[in-house]
Amino acid sequence: MPVVACERLPIRECLDRVNNEAVKSPHSVPPLPNSAMDGFAVSLSSLAADGITELEEIGTAYAGQPFDGECGQGQCVRIMTGALIPQGTDAVVMQEQAEIAENGRVCIGGGHQVGENIRQAGEDVQQGDIVLDAGVRLSPADLGVLASLGIGQLQVKRKPVVAYFSTGDELMPVGEPLEPGKIYDSNRYSLHGMLSRLSVDMIDMGVIRDDLDSMREALSKAASQADLIISTGGVSVGEADFIKPALDDLGSTEFWKIAIKPGRPLTFGQIGASIFLGLPGNPVAVMVTFSQFVMPAIEVLSGASIRRPALFRARALDALRKKPGRTEFQRGIASLDENGQWQVGKTGKQGSGILTSMSRANCFIVLADDNTGVEPGDEVDIQFFDWSR
Ligand code: AMP
Ligand code: MG
Repeated sequence: MPVVACERLPIRECLDRVNNEAVKSPHSVPPLPNSAMDGFAVSLSSLAADGITELEEIGTAYAGQPFDGECGQGQCVRIMTGALIPQGTDAVVMQEQAEIAENGRVCIGGGHQVGENIRQAGEDVQQGDIVLDAGVRLSPADLGVLASLGIGQLQVKRKPVVAYFSTGDELMPVGEPLEPGKIYDSNRYSLHGMLSRLSVDMIDMGVIRDDLDSMREALSKAASQADLIISTGGVSVGEADFIKPALDDLGSTEFWKIAIKPGRPLTFGQIGASIFLGLPGNPVAVMVTFSQFVMPAIEVLSGASIRRPALFRARALDALRKKPGRTEFQRGIASLDENGQWQVGKTGKQGSGILTSMSRANCFIVLADDNTGVEPGDEVDIQFFDWSR
């Protein structure tokens, strides 16, 4: 099911893309020993164990401009951070620990060690090390690591194509005056926002009317272009809910109705080679099911290794109503208390149509199916919103 096709891209274009093959380092980083400090390169054997030693300064090593002589006994080389360690030296004394005498000689005290302030060759990466596994989604640091190895291009998986549409005869586009009995289509905007944070190609198919033929037409068009199809609305059991019959006509339903709140009518199926996730219509349920189902599905499709969202324990500030039977994703505002522990309050009304409860929140309060309610002071699990995970 994951995408197979790959493309070779300049590394700047690989941010957030999925690496196709493990990358081995062609050489060590750093390639040669160099200085971690501005100071003086010396041979430790030139320094008295205690007391001050006076040394002759015989030149300077700059980053990118090595000192090409040899440093002998009783001598030192002035050295800058990043400069190669000169021949005949085995330590760098930082300049704050040296003094220049009036006669120009460099005075250094005791207590220094071999290797001091030297970055050893291969300290970061050894030649032949695996620096990036296959299936890794590339972070800014990964781009830097690749560049540090001189790797300018990388083979990554192609982005999955995601087609999405809203359903509902009550929906109006923003920008037009609202007609009686209608509402604005908000789901396509939150979907656009959430999908934009992910590394996918998007096809916005607009609003589809509540009739079987329109749904069938939209689904088959989407299936011809996309790896993943997302719809919102029309998955309940109302008389205007046509997603499921259209899906069963064109493909198959793999599951329908899950024990979560909000989001119960979520529908998962297949149409040809495409997978289909029919999200509920209620705007909060769209975002909950996106975070819990669409995002992992996109990880699988992308060929990336799945990362489970992290849960944190937090102290509830409010009482939370909850009936047993379904896992609930209530909306919370988490913050650190004066002891550095997480605490979480709710964002007011928790109805699945109350989208402002999402925009005010920074996390879900995840309550297990058997939970029967929360009192202030109880510990709960929270999951921070991370739309780019
Ligand atoms: P449905 O499952 O289609 O009956 O939708 C459930 C609820 O969500 C109804 O109140 C719809 O009006 C509302 N809804 C459906 N789609 C959208 C949308 N795109 N934007 C805002 N609300 C919607
Ligand atoms: Mg509807």
